[in-house]
Amino acid sequence: MQDFWLRVSLPVVFSTLAALFLWGLFSATLALWFMVIVLLIVMAYRARQLLKLGEWLNDARIETIPEAGGIWEEVFSQLYKMVKEHNQTKQELAAELHHIEQATAALPEGVAILNESHRLEWFNPLAQQHFDLDAKHDIMQDITYLVRQPEFIDYLHESNFNDPLIMIPSRHDDLVLSIKLIPYGGNKRLLISRDITQFKRIEAMRRDFVANVSHELRTPLTVVSGFVENLQDMPDLNQDSAKRALHLMAEQTRRMDNLVADLLTLSRLENEQSPLNEEAVNIQELFKEIYQDGKSLSGERHPLRMEIASSANLLGNRDELHSAFGNLISNAIRYTPEGGEILLRWFERGGQPVFAVQDSGIGIAPQHIPRLTERFYRVDRSRSRETGGTGLGLAIVKHIAMRHQAKLEISSEEGKGSTFALIFPLKRLLP
Ligand code: ADP
Repeated sequence: MQDFWLRVSLPVVFSTLAALFLWGLFSATLALWFMVIVLLIVMAYRARQLLKLGEWLNDARIETIPEAGGIWEEVFSQLYKMVKEHNQTKQELAAELHHIEQATAALPEGVAILNESHRLEWFNPLAQQHFDLDAKHDIMQDITYLVRQPEFIDYLHESNFNDPLIMIPSRHDDLVLSIKLIPYGGNKRLLISRDITQFKRIEAMRRDFVANVSHELRTPLTVVSGFVENLQDMPDLNQDSAKRALHLMAEQTRRMDNLVADLLTLSRLENEQSPLNEEAVNIQELFKEIYQDGKSLSGERHPLRMEIASSANLLGNRDELHSAFGNLISNAIRYTPEGGEILLRWFERGGQPVFAVQDSGIGIAPQHIPRLTERFYRVDRSRSRETGGTGLGLAIVKHIAMRHQAKLEISSEEGKGSTFALIFPLKRLLP
């Protein structure tokens, strides 16, 4: 500051001394003229510096700050410091904003900011996807013009946002969204959208599964309890009828038993905590076993052949593989009329080990094939039941295949027969 006053006063002191000197030497008029000229020069210089400052302020950049002398140097150097600090703060804020943008883009939820009149001030990429927004054109648009579903508009106008709105967006009917509005900062609102499609699908699957299991158990239970009531009401029932009733009851009990056994197998396979206990599985031995099982299930009604074209063994779980192969053979027998041929094969395709069961049975229409591995999905319900099916066999096979990173391939022609093949990955091949 002292320096500043010194710089301001020095020219005044010098010009006054010079004027006094001229006054003493020549005349007061000359001294006065001298002072006037000095003042005009100073004023012109100041005016020029002010002009430079004004021009620079129009586009205040650190690189273009004007050079100046005298007290203007002080002013410009202060300005230089201010601009530098301002630029630094701006850079820091921009970096911070970039971080926040990155974080919100990575959020697993859609986020949008609405103002008091429901106009979109900002949204992240997921909100853009959920509501089909255009990042360029939809900023500051009224969201009720962009998302026109009545339930959504009603929700925006509500005052209580404790419960989320569950909505299927009209432009993405394969999505289920859970939407929540959170008021903040006086009159702003945060619109949060969460994709709960998978959750809803699982919920529906669970509901269907419980309904299916109850239904599957209820039918045999009704039959058994009907017979029990009959037996109670008719104590003098002849032996033949009693035998018949007991036979049917035993059949239904077996059916329930099979169902519960398959349910337990499925639940064990689905349990992510249960690891796959791997071992070297001798395929020749396994084939002998399943061939014998198949023969006794068929009861000599089908010519059953096996073809082992590869000497490779498999790294996997023996019991699970036995169950998967057994299920496929049991299906081939159950869906092949008497006399129809069944062939079990073990071979390598492109180096990958393959287990296949080929039958000449009733076959499957193409529209059913993609759904066969769903629990309780059956093409012909009564045929499945008559032959002791639970509707869970292929679901079990699919799970075992997944646990072994294998692929289940189904090819079939209605009335001609089917082939079910399990293709194992190379890494499971034991030469
Ligand atoms: P199920 O106990 O009913 O046999 P699965 O899950 O094993 O249940 O099979 C599902 C459905 O797939 C069966 O109900 C049947 O309609 C069809 N299916 C399975 N294997 C065969 C096959 N080899 N030939 C014809 N249809 C089959």
